[in-house]
Amino acid sequence: MRQKNPPRQFQDRLDQVRRDMREKSIQALLIAHPADYFYLTGFTGEDSAILVTPRSVVVVTDGRFEGAAQKEVGWTSVRFRKGELTPELIAAVQSSRCTRVAIQPTKMSVATREALRKGLKGVRLVDAPPTLSQMRECKNASELKKIDIAIRVAESAYRAMLKTIRIGQTELELAARLEYEMKRRGSTEPAFGSIVAIDANAALPHAVPGQGRVKKGSLILFDWGATLDGYRSDLTRTVFVGSIPTKFKAIYEAVLTSQKKAIAAICAGVRMCDVDAVARQHITDCGFGDRFTHGLGHGLGLDVHESPSLSWRSDQKLRAGMVVTVEPGIYLPGLGGVRIEDDVRVTSKGCQVMSHLSKSLATSVIDVAR
Ligand code: ZN
Ligand code: ZN
Repeated sequence: MRQKNPPRQFQDRLDQVRRDMREKSIQALLIAHPADYFYLTGFTGEDSAILVTPRSVVVVTDGRFEGAAQKEVGWTSVRFRKGELTPELIAAVQSSRCTRVAIQPTKMSVATREALRKGLKGVRLVDAPPTLSQMRECKNASELKKIDIAIRVAESAYRAMLKTIRIGQTELELAARLEYEMKRRGSTEPAFGSIVAIDANAALPHAVPGQGRVKKGSLILFDWGATLDGYRSDLTRTVFVGSIPTKFKAIYEAVLTSQKKAIAAICAGVRMCDVDAVARQHITDCGFGDRFTHGLGHGLGLDVHESPSLSWRSDQKLRAGMVVTVEPGIYLPGLGGVRIEDDVRVTSKGCQVMSHLSKSLATSVIDVAR
């Protein structure tokens, strides 16, 4: 059956995926990761999947997303499942008659993979090449615009939230305020579980907000982002209530300078590990090398953590159009931590910092009313 033509941007992306499928003798590609099928089709339904063959796209979803399917992917064939997703996927693959089918092993549960293997006798399941992740690394003008709006919303919400901080408020209250202010500005959901971490809690790079309270002299670390049109922002700022202890003054300056040096090193053609090394070297020179315990940054787009990984582990080169976070940090167990994170677009001549919240040492000290 010949399908209707998809909108231009999806046609181009599907063409690219299909070229790669041909080269690798893959007859069908099964995609169950929401950001991936949104990228290829514009479909926003959850708990769904798509099957891409040389001539068709089949969307497998359920009744909750009938309206979305009609509106967004009228050009595909849509199958509505009555029960679980996997049996319907098996039926979709079987009716495609494809016998060499690629799946994304890292984006699918082991249980689903096993169920597919068992249910698809006579079909060879192979690992999909990383083509789609690589395509998503470089953003076009319209994607950059959406990320830019997600950044603006996160920044404006943060400024509004800062004005409402009072002594005695909990991390959870501040996180709720931040998320409320983002929603007011059009963010459909937080880009990820917002982090608000006070004092010792900020020593954990992936802190969870809890009952920690704002005190005079507190350190507060905020790591948050907005989602607009599916695209996300991811920012971190660390502030001090009233005054900054001498120890943290040195740490703050080490992190800030490390981040600025790394940003200055970003340019298409430069290896990820070399940018990470610039940031890490400065922090090491300041005496805190063993307290910078994570990679420098990550790709940002439809997923908050996506390819590439801006870390010592990757010798991949930066390409123009990539959007990466740059987020060095220093963590002192039991005391607190400082991280500063901005979102940066890679260009052929260097980079453009897309986020604009102030981060100077002077602006990191805030006044808070009782
Ligand atoms: Zn972050
Ligand atoms: Zn991040």
